[in-house]
Amino acid sequence: MHTKTIAIIGAGLAGLSTGCYAQMNGYSTHIFEHHSKAGGVAAAWRRDGCLYTLNHKGAYMSWLPSADNILETIPRTLPGLSNFYMAGQWVTPGGSVPTSLFSGRQLIEVLCNQDGKKFAVPK
Ligand SMILES: Cc1cc2nc3c(=O)[nH]c(=O)nc-3n(C[C@H](O)[C@H](O)[C@H](O)COP(=O)(O)OP(=O)(O)OC[C@H]3O[C@@H](n4cnc5c(N)ncnc54)[C@H](O)[C@@H]3O)c2cc1C
Repeated sequence: MHTKTIAIIGAGLAGLSTGCYAQMNGYSTHIFEHHSKAGGVAAAWRRDGCLYTLNHKGAYMSWLPSADNILETIPRTLPGLSNFYMAGQWVTPGGSVPTSLFSGRQLIEVLCNQDGKKFAVPK
């Protein structure tokens, strides 16, 4: 049987989660990360007594939740782009570790449904 390969852009928590759930469900994966470290904004290292993260000039938890957007659902696809899905803190207002990880899991659940496969999570 041919194994579908998923290209994942970014090795932040959402990309890593997507990769893990994809492999658990029999997909082959390639993760493309433009930084030398994995982990995205959750990665950190010490240098000269300071703690650095990868959120230079970025937002550390995505959109600021407000009364207007807290119940918003941000689409995970873009018009005209088939087989392209988004996961991570920018599609989950408020961001955070749990929602970024969960968005990767959700994405693979959607792909499994589309492929007629039962979504599996090891016990
Ligand atoms: C200092 C700090 C403290 C935090 N504290 C908490 C906390 O206490 N609790 C909590 O729940 N959350 C916390 N967060 C938020 C949480 O860490 C983030 O919401 C979550 O890690 C976001 O993960 P992500 O994968 O969605 O995005 P990102 O981490 O932004 O990952 C995106 C990845 O894609 C890569 N990338 C982007 N463009 C390209 C490209 N063109 N090609 C290849 N790679 C690309 C980036 O280099 C990055 O590795 C904190 C964040 C920071 C910075």
